[in-house]
Amino acid sequence: MHNGAFRELGLDTYIYIPLPVPKYPYIRIKEAILGLRALGFKGANITVPYKEAVLPYMDYVSDSARIIGAINTVLIDDASRLCGYNTDSLGFINDLRERQIFTSSMDVLILGAGGSARAIAYGLLDYGVKSLTILNRTKSKADEIAQNMKSKFLNVPITSDILTHEKLHELPHIDLIINCTSLGLNESIDQMPWDKALRFRGDQIVYDLIYNPEETELLKKAQADGALAINGREMLVHQGALAFSLWTGHKPPVEIMRHELEMKKNLPEGDF
Ligand code: NDP
Repeated sequence: MHNGAFRELGLDTYIYIPLPVPKYPYIRIKEAILGLRALGFKGANITVPYKEAVLPYMDYVSDSARIIGAINTVLIDDASRLCGYNTDSLGFINDLRERQIFTSSMDVLILGAGGSARAIAYGLLDYGVKSLTILNRTKSKADEIAQNMKSKFLNVPITSDILTHEKLHELPHIDLIINCTSLGLNESIDQMPWDKALRFRGDQIVYDLIYNPEETELLKKAQADGALAINGREMLVHQGALAFSLWTGHKPPVEIMRHELEMKKNLPEGDF
């Protein structure tokens, strides 16, 4: 996606490459991050599981990334400072905006409480929601996000609980459901964070952050029940577009980036 965009704009001093940071024999994320500066990199994306771990090594962290507590984009500025941003949050909101989905009168449910759930919760509260419920397998993590967000967004009802089938049945009226768990990905490809016996309403929107596979079991069910089903591909494009403009200072060629992703969509997850 990024290399296609660099080519399109003739930015031939840029190249986007994968740099795995192994967990074994021990994690060297600090050396990896500081090494980016030493090696003259302009920036980086940070992926699972290091989005939170890199925060202490930044010279600057944007307000939203600080509140979210996770960084997915690093810019090394002209003064060689490591600057941390979170473009997942606005990437998701920009996709909603483009689809003309306005959430200020919506009751919203987030499933999951990892790094992406934090970014989505912040993005949605900033964009405006009527209420926010966060459910997670590990309840304490959902509670922690809810507490953190309550201190910033005083006027919105924010609740958290454990993610169980029973809880899903007990929920009040929900308009938008967002899957921020990794259920539906890789070895859990045949699973979903929802009760198969619980029908979606035709006026509900079900957004799954997962983009590979294109259609998770959750989205298949949403579609079969008549709800609007959206996968995470456009969020990926939008978060990438925001990172691209941070690194290059250029307007991102979003159509090219979208096209590049489209060309790669049948590759296994690791090949992204
Ligand atoms: P994290 O590892 O930070 O969080 C994973 C979440 O999934 C946790 O809430 C975890 O619950 C939950 N979970 C994992 N396994 C299970 C299970 N068996 N049953 C119930 N819940 C489970 O990951 P991220 O938040 O960073 O990413 C989540 C998903 O979002 C991934 O699929 C990722 O690919 C996608 N993503 C997509 C993006 C896009 O641009 N479209 C951007 C970022 C992420 P617990 O806390 O209990 O462990």
